Amino acid sequence: LTTNDQIEDHRICVCVRARPLNKKEISGKDLDVITIPSKDVVMVHEPKQKVDLTRYLENQTFRFDYTFDENSTNEMVYRFTAQPLVETIFERGMATCFAYGQTGSGKTHTMGGDFSGKNQDCSKGIYALSARDVFLMLKKPNYKKLDLQVFATFFEIYSGKVFDLLNRKAKLRVLEDGKQQVQVVGLQEKEVKCMEDVLKLIELGNSCRTSGQTSANAHSSRSHAVFQIILRKRGKMHGKFSLIDLAGNERGADTSSADRQTRFEGAEINKSLLALKECIRALGLNKPHTPFRASKLTQVLRDSFIGENSRTCMIATISPGMASCENTLNTLRYANRVKEF
Ligand code: ADP
Ligand code: MG
Repeated sequence: LTTNDQIEDHRICVCVRARPLNKKEISGKDLDVITIPSKDVVMVHEPKQKVDLTRYLENQTFRFDYTFDENSTNEMVYRFTAQPLVETIFERGMATCFAYGQTGSGKTHTMGGDFSGKNQDCSKGIYALSARDVFLMLKKPNYKKLDLQVFATFFEIYSGKVFDLLNRKAKLRVLEDGKQQVQVVGLQEKEVKCMEDVLKLIELGNSCRTSGQTSANAHSSRSHAVFQIILRKRGKMHGKFSLIDLAGNERGADTSSADRQTRFEGAEINKSLLALKECIRALGLNKPHTPFRASKLTQVLRDSFIGENSRTCMIATISPGMASCENTLNTLRYANRVKEF
């Protein structure tokens, strides 16, 4: 191991999760082109055509810290991704966990829990599972004596603007002071004393996120949602865990859209996802300068990309269908780059 390997292994974890084929894909006779042959490898069987028009599958193999197949549960994914980061915030650190992938690949299912269908359940998403363990850790003698308080925020970044999901989508300003400290002015930070409090906030924020939209997914796929768990000791920040359900990464097509707003949103998303990659890489390389100003997303998360005790994990979610192959490969290449130095 080189020094860099040790740093990156310690501070950055990159995982992939494939969801099962859904009803629509099955009825449309889409094929599953993903294989996860071991716990850290994912293979994509990409359809190709020779010049004589005969078709064949080209196998592409990627290796990550962990890979999760269609049978994995949120609890399993959580155990290897966000759970190890809970301790970080008790040790005065900053932790971030991102879900990255194309719309419909399972980002919200993984982070927020399931909001599709009738039995909505956010108690099994990574937001809730992390909060559960924060409350468990608080009971440990070592941490109990610190007398920490727990707070939560939930906001959305849409087209480079920040909206408070715990305060009727109030538009918030982001300010940077002389010491490069970034502040989201007026962001509601709610104290949470138990899991019930947390689940209520997730539900509130999520309903706020999707309200007033003719097509809920159309909007949520174009915005980043940030849920934060903050530990405070006598008012002062002790540690912060940011859990982020990123905008869909398939926006490349938008840049050629006829609609100006759509084009603008697509460009904003591309910009923020590129900036995010660079900021995580800077963290892994222990670079002193993080290009956090390149987007609102990275600006708001600035304090998580710096500091001795910052750790991050990325869960790249992929759709298994052949129809999604191109997006899936883009997702895997991006995830690969995050850790490749
Ligand atoms: P995204 O947030 O990436 O757009 P969603 O999380 O909304 O995608 O997932 C799209 C659909 O697929 C939802 O109906 C969701 O319940 C389902 N889904 C996603 N991941 C899984 C999974 N691992 N197992 C079962 N269903 C899943
Ligand atoms: Mg979503």
